[in-house]
Amino acid sequence: MRLAERFLPFAVAAVAVGVGYGLSVGLAGYFVYLGVSAVVAAIALLGLGVVTGTAGMISLCQLTFGAVGAFVVSACNVAGVPGGFVVWLLLGGLAAAAAGVLVGLPALRLRGITLAVVTLGLAAAADLTLVQIQFPGATEGLSVERPDAFSDDRSYFFLAVLVLVACGLVVHFLRRGRWGSSWHLVAFSERGTAAVGAGVRTSKLTAFAVSAALGGISGGLLTGQVGLAFPASFTAIQSLALYVLAIMSGAHLIDMAVFGALLWVAVPELLKRWGVPQDWGFVIFGVLGIQALAGRGNLGTAVRNLWHRSRKPAGLGLTEVAEVEPLPPGDPVLQVRGLSVSFGHVRALSDVDISVPEHGVLGVIGPNGAGKSTLVDVISGFLPRATGTVTLDGRLLTGSPTRRARAGLRRTFQQDRVPPGLTVGAYVRFVARRRLPGAEVADALEFFGCPSARTPLSRVDAGARRLVEVVGHLLAKPRVLLLDEPAAGLPHEEHVAFGRRLRQVPARFGVSVLLIEHDLDLVRSVCDRLTVLDFGEVLASGPQADVLADPAVLKAYMGETELL
Ligand code: ADP
Ligand code: MG
Repeated sequence: MRLAERFLPFAVAAVAVGVGYGLSVGLAGYFVYLGVSAVVAAIALLGLGVVTGTAGMISLCQLTFGAVGAFVVSACNVAGVPGGFVVWLLLGGLAAAAAGVLVGLPALRLRGITLAVVTLGLAAAADLTLVQIQFPGATEGLSVERPDAFSDDRSYFFLAVLVLVACGLVVHFLRRGRWGSSWHLVAFSERGTAAVGAGVRTSKLTAFAVSAALGGISGGLLTGQVGLAFPASFTAIQSLALYVLAIMSGAHLIDMAVFGALLWVAVPELLKRWGVPQDWGFVIFGVLGIQALAGRGNLGTAVRNLWHRSRKPAGLGLTEVAEVEPLPPGDPVLQVRGLSVSFGHVRALSDVDISVPEHGVLGVIGPNGAGKSTLVDVISGFLPRATGTVTLDGRLLTGSPTRRARAGLRRTFQQDRVPPGLTVGAYVRFVARRRLPGAEVADALEFFGCPSARTPLSRVDAGARRLVEVVGHLLAKPRVLLLDEPAAGLPHEEHVAFGRRLRQVPARFGVSVLLIEHDLDLVRSVCDRLTVLDFGEVLASGPQADVLADPAVLKAYMGETELL
């Protein structure tokens, strides 16, 4: 099964090449020409599927990257660069990737509509500039030379299919690798990305670069198709329409990128046959795009949901696990001194001291709004304006969340930060940020009763997803893991069972834990030491029994819960 899965992409690629060859021989000449246009559009859409569909950034200048590719191919043709068309195509892709990084730089700070405006503005500016400077060789009418073996239209179509299949394979494997996981993560939560020690910057820039490279290759192919590139093929309005088509078809799925490309070619063609002005095609794409953006979802996801609808979401399946003797708590590994932070007039934390012992599970409890999540944010570097010191293994812990994560401090979030686009296994491996044997992943998942590594996260229920997040961070083997109400969504029995497992975490995974929890039963069974926060101050701190018997703690908890 696993072997079959490994070869499946290549088998699909081989079939696609076969179909492409058949079409190149069998189609009527006119359709061969349209076929090249569809392949060109499919490659550009694949690129949008990366930057928009996977990494969640709006890019409205995909055809500008196409123009970069076309420009490089034309320039190489004029200069007679050795290597011929295929090499020029690759150079065009590389140049477009570099342009993609440049365009991606603002995306590090801008998001949503602002990024849309910036990229569309760029597309419009590039459009005007191209009209001014024209493509190399255009004024002389110097047509781009196709490779000898693919010089007629039929064989050029086959070449285009080969390029598309190669691009599809590259995208498939990139998306299954580290970059791909980071794209899914950054689209879903930038904070979540930083918390696993993955660079948000790298993630966004690689997405832009890969997407632009595909745009560049598609522009280069188009130039080989028509011989001479024209600015009219790369206008801002067409980039916009292509974006809408990517959203609507769900171009993050390779088959849907191809489907979108067929629409891209077929709609104007049909309109032409019916005698309707072709610009109406933009209106049709626009309406469908608005439907997709308004939350109706895209076609690709809709089709896949039909397939999955009958299947229940996967939850926890807890089995008995062997008991492991907890290790005796050692010296403090994480020490927090004098932490304070305010939000306007709200003093969320004032002068808080906390210390997590090696091999220990420190419980942090307190009523809603006591400052528990804020404490985790400060320690993990998400609130840089806080005052006070945090030391890990005696070394001062400073800098960005990414840096702190890499130094051995991990955290989970109270809200779901697990991207639905990945499988359980891909996500866990990405969060762990190290090479992991399949058995180690499977063991850790099984220990917490999580669904298997192959399950798509979109099919895992919310409570189990949060434990998958915990497993990923534990497998990263940090020095300390901060857990912000990790079991909040679980039913009572599962909550208790989770607690039993958590108690074994230091011994099993070699990770010390700070646990924020509202269920006092769980706290009692798991934590040796407790710190109680109330209105941002430490109310009590020490061995569990002492703290829970403290009259001040009882008083603070009276209105909040009946559990004591
Ligand atoms: P807990 O996790 O213990 O329920 P929080 O740490 O979320 O509490 O919140 C502590 C206090 O800080 C609350 O009064 C909350 O309203 C306030 N607070 C938290 N985050 C922000 C923020 N980003 N802006 C303004 N106030 C905030
Ligand atoms: Mg909280």
